[in-house]
Amino acid sequence: MELVFLGTGGGRFTLATQKRRTGGFLIKEGKVKIHVDPGPGALVNAWEARENPMRTTHLFVSHAHTDHYVDAPAIIEAMTNGTRDHRGVLVGSEWLLKGGDGDYPGIMRYHQEMVARVEVSRPGKKLDFDGFDVLPTETRHEETSCTGFVFEFPKLRVGYTADGAYYPGMEDYFQDVDVLILNTIAPDMHSIPILMTLADGMKLVDAVKPKLAIIQHFGLRALRYGPERMASEIAERTGVRAIAARDFMKMDLSKELGKSGLTSFL
Ligand SMILES: [Zn+2]
Repeated sequence: MELVFLGTGGGRFTLATQKRRTGGFLIKEGKVKIHVDPGPGALVNAWEARENPMRTTHLFVSHAHTDHYVDAPAIIEAMTNGTRDHRGVLVGSEWLLKGGDGDYPGIMRYHQEMVARVEVSRPGKKLDFDGFDVLPTETRHEETSCTGFVFEFPKLRVGYTADGAYYPGMEDYFQDVDVLILNTIAPDMHSIPILMTLADGMKLVDAVKPKLAIIQHFGLRALRYGPERMASEIAERTGVRAIAARDFMKMDLSKELGKSGLTSFL
């Protein structure tokens, strides 16, 4: 299984400045190519990373915030062979697919109807696909229907927190994940706790104890503080191997987990 990061930036100012890109990430396993959270630049970044977006099989969008969803229609058009083929899977939050709080859906019905299967993600309501399952996880975020995801493949589980602050019990969704991807947007938070801070990330990693933690979705303050410094602080505090993702980082998970001496499951 391979992970490819098409962007590791998050938040309004990293988005606007593109100090880190905002294309989301891919999970590749055999013929399955999952694109998660295609923010601005996702389509272009996929080509730049030599990852043909027309081979996308599943698109997962955690919520209707700009840095997570705006390239979704472009990826859908690629995934459906330029709209010619009715194929692919789209999973997204309620606001994104149905609209919410007076807003129209973030992805128009025109694009939703191109895809063979469309699912609204709801916390705890597991979704079955060919070769893997996905457990949507609850978040504490401004977009209240935002969900994270646990991608459950037979040999490997990859958890993704999406956006939102830590809350007691969050770890219950991520039990037994091998790899945990966290959106640690900032080293600390000034105001309303709706985003994942470094301290939040430490709490979750400590409670879940994955084999590998990968942090990403860095806001400008996180970039100034230093993503690698954040990762090493998580590792020090929890004893879990932690990496700060970089734009266009490709990671063969069997090799990466092998480095931790954890090869038994692959
Ligand atoms: Zn958000």
